[in-house]
Amino acid sequence: MSSAASVPPRARVVVIGGGVIGTSIAYHLGHMGWTDVVLVERDQLTSGTTWHAAGLMVTFGSTSSTSTELRQYTADLYARLEAETGLATGFKPVGFIELAADRDRLEEYRRVSAFNRHCGVDVQELSAHEVADMFPLARTDDVLAGFYVAADGRVNPVDVTMSMAKGARQQGVTIAQGVSVVDVVTHNGAVHSVVTDHGTIECEYVVNCAGMWARQLGARSGVNIPLQAAEHYYLITEQMEGIDPNWPVIEDPGNFGYYREEVGGLMIGLFETRCAPWHVDRIPDDSSFTSIQPDWDRMGPYVEAAMSRVPKSLDTGIRTFFCGPESFTPDLRPIVGEAPEVKNYFIAAGLNSIGILTGGGLGRMIAHWIVNGSPDMDVTGMDPARLHPYQSNPDYRRTRTVESLGMVYQCHYPNKSMATARDAKRSPLHDRLAAQGAYFKDVSGWESPGWYAGAGVTPEPGPLTFGRPSWWANWEAEHGACREGVVLIDMSFMSKFRVQGRDAGRVLDHLSTNAVDGPAGTITYTQWLNSQGTVEADLTITKRAADDFLVVATDTAHRHVEMLLQRGVGDAHAFVTDVTGALAQINVQGPRARDVLQAVTDTDMSNDAFPFRAAREIAIGFARVLCVRITYVGELGYELFVPTEQAVHVYDRLVDAGAAFGLRHAGLSALGSLRLEKAYRDYGHDIDNTDTPLEAGFGFSTVIDKPGGFVGRDAVVAAKAAGAPSRRLVQVLVLAPEPLMYHAEIIRRDGVDVGYVRAASYGHTLGGAVGLAMVERADGPVTAQWLAEGEWTVEIVDRRHPCTVSLRPLHDPTNDRIKA
Ligand SMILES: Cc1cc2nc3c(=O)[nH]c(=O)nc-3n(C[C@H](O)[C@H](O)[C@H](O)COP(=O)(O)OP(=O)(O)OC[C@H]3O[C@@H](n4cnc5c(N)ncnc54)[C@H](O)[C@@H]3O)c2cc1C
Repeated sequence: MSSAASVPPRARVVVIGGGVIGTSIAYHLGHMGWTDVVLVERDQLTSGTTWHAAGLMVTFGSTSSTSTELRQYTADLYARLEAETGLATGFKPVGFIELAADRDRLEEYRRVSAFNRHCGVDVQELSAHEVADMFPLARTDDVLAGFYVAADGRVNPVDVTMSMAKGARQQGVTIAQGVSVVDVVTHNGAVHSVVTDHGTIECEYVVNCAGMWARQLGARSGVNIPLQAAEHYYLITEQMEGIDPNWPVIEDPGNFGYYREEVGGLMIGLFETRCAPWHVDRIPDDSSFTSIQPDWDRMGPYVEAAMSRVPKSLDTGIRTFFCGPESFTPDLRPIVGEAPEVKNYFIAAGLNSIGILTGGGLGRMIAHWIVNGSPDMDVTGMDPARLHPYQSNPDYRRTRTVESLGMVYQCHYPNKSMATARDAKRSPLHDRLAAQGAYFKDVSGWESPGWYAGAGVTPEPGPLTFGRPSWWANWEAEHGACREGVVLIDMSFMSKFRVQGRDAGRVLDHLSTNAVDGPAGTITYTQWLNSQGTVEADLTITKRAADDFLVVATDTAHRHVEMLLQRGVGDAHAFVTDVTGALAQINVQGPRARDVLQAVTDTDMSNDAFPFRAAREIAIGFARVLCVRITYVGELGYELFVPTEQAVHVYDRLVDAGAAFGLRHAGLSALGSLRLEKAYRDYGHDIDNTDTPLEAGFGFSTVIDKPGGFVGRDAVVAAKAAGAPSRRLVQVLVLAPEPLMYHAEIIRRDGVDVGYVRAASYGHTLGGAVGLAMVERADGPVTAQWLAEGEWTVEIVDRRHPCTVSLRPLHDPTNDRIKA
C-alpha cells in the first residue's frame, strides 16, 4: 500500500475512508477502469467501525429489491474474492435462520420470504423441530417457524476489506493510510479538491465514506449527513461443549439476539429496543479501533432475554462483552448517493449495522453511478436529499437515534410511524385538526393526520397489526365521504417552490416532459427525467403568470426537487424560492367540493368558468387564495394554497360552509386508498429512478415533440422506437374482499411470477385490496391484450388470490368524475 507521503496532487476520484464501504467503492471503480482514484484513510484500513463487526451475511429479510440485490451481490463477491486477490475473506456459507416465535412475525416473514424468493433468494420455512436439528442448543418450544437460507452465513469483515483493498491496488488504485481529510473544497457548487494533512488533492469526485465521522466532515462543505453513532453490542461466551462451527447463524428478534459460533463459544449479538447514542457532540477525531465501556445495567435485561434462547449460555461464562460504535440514521435507511448541496460530492455512510453485508453491492452501485452518471438501481429510499438539515441538530439526533437501532428487530408492521423526535413541524391547522380527533403521523417531520376519530374524540390507534386496524371504520367512512360527498385534507407538508423570472417558463419547460409553459392560470402534471430518460421527479407546475410558477412535489422529494430546480436554472434569469412553510395546502375533494367552494367565494366555480386544471386567485373571507382545480383522489376537487398566517381563517370558513354539505376531514390513509383506486402514482413508493415514463404509464404527460425538447427526450424517443415496453406498471385489485396487501406481494400470470406490488392499500369503493405493481413479460410487450388473456393471482401470506390487473384506472377510467 502507498505511504502517506505519496498523496498525489491530482486524482479523478478521492474516496474518503478505508472501512468496508470506501474500500469497496475504490475496488469497483478500479474494476470499471477508473484507476486514477485515491482512497484516503485517516488511520489504518478498518480502524473505524469495520474491524469489530460480527460479520453476519444475510440475504433474507428485506422487502426492498435494492437492498436484496445489494446483499446478493455482496455475498457473491465475498465468495469469489479470494480467487482474484489471494486473500481469504472468511466467508462461510453456514446458513442463516430467522426465528418467528409469535404470530405477527410469522406473518411478516412469510410475506418477506415470498418476496425474497421472487428476488432469487432460496428461503425455506422450517418447523421448530427442524430448527432444533440444525442448532441443537437452541430452545425451540415456542418457535412457530424458522426461515432458512442455506447460502447465507458469515464473513470476516477485516479480511473482506483487506482483500478488496488488494484487489483495488491490483487495478492501480492508490490507498493512502495515515492521511486525514480536513476539508473538501467546492467551486461553483461542485467538488474542486480535497485538503488533507499531507497536502491537497485536486479532483472531480469525492466519496465521503467516513463512517460515523461522515456528518462532521460533510458539514464543513455544507453537506447534510444526519447520522449518529450509537453503542452496539455483542458478547462472546466461554467455550461451550457441543457447539459446532458449522451450525447456521440464528436470529431471534423477539429476544433481541443473534447467535453464531465463535472460537468454540457462542457469539450473541444484541439489538436493544432503546439504544444509547455515542458522542452526540462530536465523534473524536482520533478514535481508532474503539471499544466502549459496556453499560451492563442498561443491557442486562436484553442479555438475559437473548441468552434465554440458548439456555446453556446462561450457565456459561461471558468471555467478552463488546460494545462498539455504529452509525444510525433517522429512518434506518442508509445515506447513499450524490449530495444535493454539492455536485459530484457522493456520500456512502449511515449503514445501520448492515455495512458488511451490503458493502460489496454499495461499492458496485456507487462506482457505476460515478462512471455512468446515474445509478442502475432504485435509490429513492437512500437518497441523501430525503433528509433535512434540522435532522442534524444534536437534539434531534440524540432523540431519534434512541429508536433507530431498536427498529431493526421490531416487527415491521404497516402503518407504523416513528415515535421519537416528534412535533418537529406543525401545519398551521394543527390545533384545529387535533380538535377533530386527528391521529397524527410523522410525515417527513410534519405532524400529519393519518385518520380522524371525530370531533372531541381522542384517537386510540389500538395495537399495530397486519390485519384490519381498529380505525378501519373511520378510514372507510373518510374514503366514502370523498367518493360520495366532500372531504378536507390538510396537505401542508407538500414541497412547494415559487419559480420566478423571465426565463422561468423556459427553464421549467425544459425540465418537464409535459408542456408546462402554456396559458397562465393552468396547472400541469409532469415528470422530470434524467438524461438517461428515467424518472427523477413527479410533480405539478402551476403557471400563475408569464414569469411566475408554483412547483409542487411530494414531501419526500423536497430537497431532490429543489436541487433539480437549482441545477436546471443554471445562469438563466429564474429564481427559486422554497415556499413550503409559507403556504398551507388545503385540499377540498369530492363531488360536493364545488358546492363548498362556491359557498365561501364569489368567484364563479362552475365547470365552464373554472374547468379542470384551472388555477385562479380567489377570495375566501379575508384571504386571497390560489385555488387550483386538480385531484389526487380521482374526484372533482380543488387544492387551495393559502398564506400560512391565513390558513386557520380559510379553514374555518370552509368547515363552517362545509357543514351543510356533510364535509368530513380525511387523513393520509384515505388519501392513500383513494389515489390507489385511481392508480395515481407516488414517487419513491410505486415509481422510481429506474422507470421510464412509458413503463410507469406517463405517456399521456410526455409531449415528445414540444419545441425545445426536454431533459431525457432523446432517451424517450429511443425507447419508443424500440417498441412497446416489456415492463409496465399495472393496477392490481384483489377480487376477494378480505386479504390485505401492503407492499412486495408477488403477482403471477398463469402461475408464472411476473412482478410484485410496489405500493398498496385497501379500495373501499372497489371492494378489495388495491395496489400498483411493475410486471415484466419475458417474450414481448406488456399490452392490454396480454393482461386480459392471462389468469392473474397475487400471493399474500402463502396463498394465491385471484386478482384483476389493468393499465387503465379501475376507478373512473374515463375521468368523468374529475371533469364533472
Ligand atoms: C458490534 C457491531 C456488530 C456489527 N455486525 C455487523 C454484521 O454482522 N454485519 C454487517 O453487515 N454489519 C455489521 N456491523 C456494522 C458494520 O460494521 C458497519 O456498517 C460498517 O463497518 C460500516 O463501514 P464504513 O466503511 O461505513 O465505516 P468505517 O468502518 O467506520 O470506515 C470509515 C473510515 O473512515 C475513516 N475516516 C473518518 N474520517 C476521516 C477523514 N477525515 N479522513 C480520512 N479518513 C477518515 C475512518 O478512520 C474509518 O476507517 C456491526 C457493527 C457493530 C458495531
